[in-house]
Amino acid sequence: MPNNRLSDGIVAERLNADDYNQNFSDLHAPLNKHEALVAADRCYFCYDAPCMTACPTSIDIPMFIRQISTGNDLGSAKTILDQNIMGGMCARVCPTETLCEEVCVREVAEGKPVKIAELQRYATDAQMKVSSHPYTREALTGKKIAVVGAGPTGLACAHRLAMYGHDVTVFEARAKAGGLNEFGIASYKSVDNFAQAEVDWLLEIGGIEIKYGQKFGEGLSLASLQNDYDGVYLGVGLGGVNALRLDGEDKDNILDAVDFIADLRQADDVAKLPIGRRVVVIGGGMTAVDAAVQSKLLGADEVTMVYRRGKDNMSASEFEQDLATSKGVRLIYNAAPVAIGGNGKAEDITFAFTETIGGKLQMKDETFTLAADQIFKAIGQKLDISNDELDIEWGKIEVNEVGRTSLDGVWAGGDCATGGDDLTVTAVAEGRDAAEDINSVLRGGT
Ligand SMILES: Cc1cc2nc3c(=O)[nH]c(=O)nc-3n(C[C@H](O)[C@H](O)[C@H](O)COP(=O)(O)OP(=O)(O)OC[C@H]3O[C@@H](n4cnc5c(N)ncnc54)[C@H](O)[C@@H]3O)c2cc1C
Ligand code: SF4
Repeated sequence: MPNNRLSDGIVAERLNADDYNQNFSDLHAPLNKHEALVAADRCYFCYDAPCMTACPTSIDIPMFIRQISTGNDLGSAKTILDQNIMGGMCARVCPTETLCEEVCVREVAEGKPVKIAELQRYATDAQMKVSSHPYTREALTGKKIAVVGAGPTGLACAHRLAMYGHDVTVFEARAKAGGLNEFGIASYKSVDNFAQAEVDWLLEIGGIEIKYGQKFGEGLSLASLQNDYDGVYLGVGLGGVNALRLDGEDKDNILDAVDFIADLRQADDVAKLPIGRRVVVIGGGMTAVDAAVQSKLLGADEVTMVYRRGKDNMSASEFEQDLATSKGVRLIYNAAPVAIGGNGKAEDITFAFTETIGGKLQMKDETFTLAADQIFKAIGQKLDISNDELDIEWGKIEVNEVGRTSLDGVWAGGDCATGGDDLTVTAVAEGRDAAEDINSVLRGGT
């Protein structure tokens, strides 16, 4: 039974309209031309640039920054988009502090990297403001490919296949495309409906039809797709949510953080979203940080994020952790939940401190209890498709480096497949690389 009933302590309109507007505005205001030129000027245009190697989509970073320096903004955008068709979203959401900007020689030498992400946003925004889509389709091949899931990986795959002249049908379970770009990424990272604008822009290439409300596994089988199409790409993400496996988990006011974030992203008016006064978020990844920060931005008084291991083990980056604390979120490390108290609805949650002995997490006897009128679970997502045909490894569809699954003619990538971090940029890279492989197989390669 869904445990999403809300009670009295959880109310909407905790803040005034100005506070909501300010809280949910752009995390980084876009660079203007002058700022972009100044930022670009800091780049050394390194030979063998480490930033480029650190980028999962291998964007030629020194090249696109030089193009900005010379006033060629659209050329710069093309350099980015050739490698990463969702370069606009990635500029907003990539944890660059652990990717390109971490290894930038100016970060290493001076502790201040070139603003690669902000420059990437500057260039891709320039492209999206002009009406013409910069890619055209090659001669049509007559080949048809089914892509399942209209998230970053499915759309990146579909775009590249369309470019090669193949016809693509995308089967999407929801009523909107974009995947977690639309339903997951924190509101303040993607304002002004950017996710949908980027999808619309990407589809301008033509040759891609999205069929909404089509759920793989429910009337849409792998066998039928294999029969009807020349190739299949699975990009279904991780739709399931891990359970805490605790007594009391079915009490009211205990919610999955991803559902809370999806509601927030789809809200016409965030002021109407009810939030508790004392919120506890369990988890240590981006989802946990996003749920905690956005709870605070909605007006919760106390937000505490509790993670079972140490700070260094958190998958949320240092930047994300700092963002959380800067917004007033309290972070507690090395503690795991053991019991949820309350009569019908959650009222408190007890944690045991933990320690790692011989690589194994152990609970200590010492415990503490936090009052909580709302608890968000953010302890990871899992694959949510029924399948007895594909090989699965570590809970994901097993693929090789170009996305081939254990079945001929079926590829997979993004969060649902093995390999790579669960990041938007990796999902895009994997969709692109699988499309390259599908194209070469369809054209008679091995
Ligand atoms: C809350 C949250 C915040 C995040 N923040 C960041 C961030 O700041 N930066 C970052 O780089 N990454 C972030 N990530 C990770 C990033 O969003 C994912 O790695 C990325 O979206 C994966 O893309 P994907 O296309 O593989 O999957 P998804 O984005 O999950 O897309 C999968 C698509 O498949 C559809 N689908 C699912 N099941 C079926 C089915 N059975 N049949 C048909 N369609 C189906 C879904 O509706 C969806 O449209 C975040 C993730 C979450 C959960
Ligand atoms: S490492 Fe830094 S300075 Fe060197 S090319 Fe990349 S962005 Fe420019």
